[in-house]
Amino acid sequence: MLSELKTLLAEVDDLRSSASLLHWDQATYMPSQGASARGRQLATLSRLAHEKFTAPRLGEILDELESLENELDPESDDAALIRVTRRQYQKAIRIPVAFEAKFSAHTAQIYEAWAKARPANDFASIRPLLEKSLDFSRELAQFFPYDHIADPLIDFSDEGMKAESVRALFAALRADLVPLVEAVTARTPADDTFLRGHFADEKQEAFAAQIVRAVGYDFERGRMDRTHHPFMTKFSLGDVRITTRARAEDATELLFGALHEAGHALYEQGIARNLEATPLATGTSSGVHESQSRLWENLVGRSRPFWEHFYPRLQEVFPSQFGAVSLEAFVAGINRVSRSLIRTDADELTYNLHVMIRFDLELEMLEGKLLVADLPEAWRARYQSDLGLASETETNGAMQDVHWFSGTVGGAFQGYTIGNILSAQFYAAARREIGDLEGQLRRGEFEALREWLTRNIYRHGSKFTAEEIVRRATGEELSTAPYLGYLRGKFAS
Ligand code: ZN
Repeated sequence: MLSELKTLLAEVDDLRSSASLLHWDQATYMPSQGASARGRQLATLSRLAHEKFTAPRLGEILDELESLENELDPESDDAALIRVTRRQYQKAIRIPVAFEAKFSAHTAQIYEAWAKARPANDFASIRPLLEKSLDFSRELAQFFPYDHIADPLIDFSDEGMKAESVRALFAALRADLVPLVEAVTARTPADDTFLRGHFADEKQEAFAAQIVRAVGYDFERGRMDRTHHPFMTKFSLGDVRITTRARAEDATELLFGALHEAGHALYEQGIARNLEATPLATGTSSGVHESQSRLWENLVGRSRPFWEHFYPRLQEVFPSQFGAVSLEAFVAGINRVSRSLIRTDADELTYNLHVMIRFDLELEMLEGKLLVADLPEAWRARYQSDLGLASETETNGAMQDVHWFSGTVGGAFQGYTIGNILSAQFYAAARREIGDLEGQLRRGEFEALREWLTRNIYRHGSKFTAEEIVRRATGEELSTAPYLGYLRGKFAS
């Protein structure tokens, strides 16, 4: 019975991985004329995967496995497989096949339209499609019981969290964050003009590849390509890919983008190989996933010890740009705090304010209190009040992020801030155990940190919920204290 379950789940995984490959291709190399057929192909694959996963036979198998499950050690892979599959099955059977297919086709269409409308600052053309996305999101939520309409959407990415618990968490963080941002931005910001100039794409890419290889990203089980909106994707535990975006006039976008995506990839590459082709072979929640991209990008990648090792190498690659810039100035430059319009360019300190704006606005849209037509103005007003500046264009405003234009409105943003909070909590726990972690970073050694993360987080895949992973890895509940301590230590001094 267990082997029948695994065979069935492997087939579902094959269909989903094939869809992921088509998505990857759409976002990297596909010619634009391929879009409409691609939308249809993705809809077909997603329908087949959904049909297979929600077939009554899977329900029967899960019922029959109940007595076996009770005999198994709850921490065993098989018990976790039955438990997690049942949870996902019970969610999936609530969603009609026809809905899945319609929504998937719509998603491909709006993504393609967004990719054109965003650079053209053409919100009017995307508006009806975004209204449809909002309708789909509300329809999807209706298939589930909820207290707040966003709850089911949040639960898809961050299982166990609700609008209410995220609001409470964000309010607690915000109370300490806002005064800290005020204090830090009142000072003269660090000079970072040397990060702008001309940096040949190929050189940036080669250097970023060197860095992600050094932290442990395995190119035998992955590759790095270019896209508009960088992401990590996995087709199997032996094929975990990252994508980057280069800007010749900016030395940091590709570099930190690559480190960020490599952090996601390290998680997936670190999953125990025997979980392959099951629902357990993926990161456990978007918050825990994001904690890994943030940990490598920020706690490691923007730290002084890290650059003590890598800065001389960067100076060799770009001697005319960095030859006369000291290590101190460079580290201060890459950690410059300033209020800005673009989330993905934001510094560590203001980043969460960008996330909170999006989270609040999507909740208002789902609640029906904010119309899509009024989104650009609401966006501007919130940026003005929270960050003291507002974009004149929708390119740098409500259209800047891919999320609402490639999935549901709701559920996709809270994970970033949960991830930031967790990154510091995990890092603090690793540091307690490893001892001389900074000394290791200074020598370009990442083995012990990666090993700690693999042992406590990566290898488990989705065997445990985010809540369980946090408790097992840190001995604590989710807490903002390590994160606020980290931010104060780094920025308030
Ligand atoms: Zn990420």
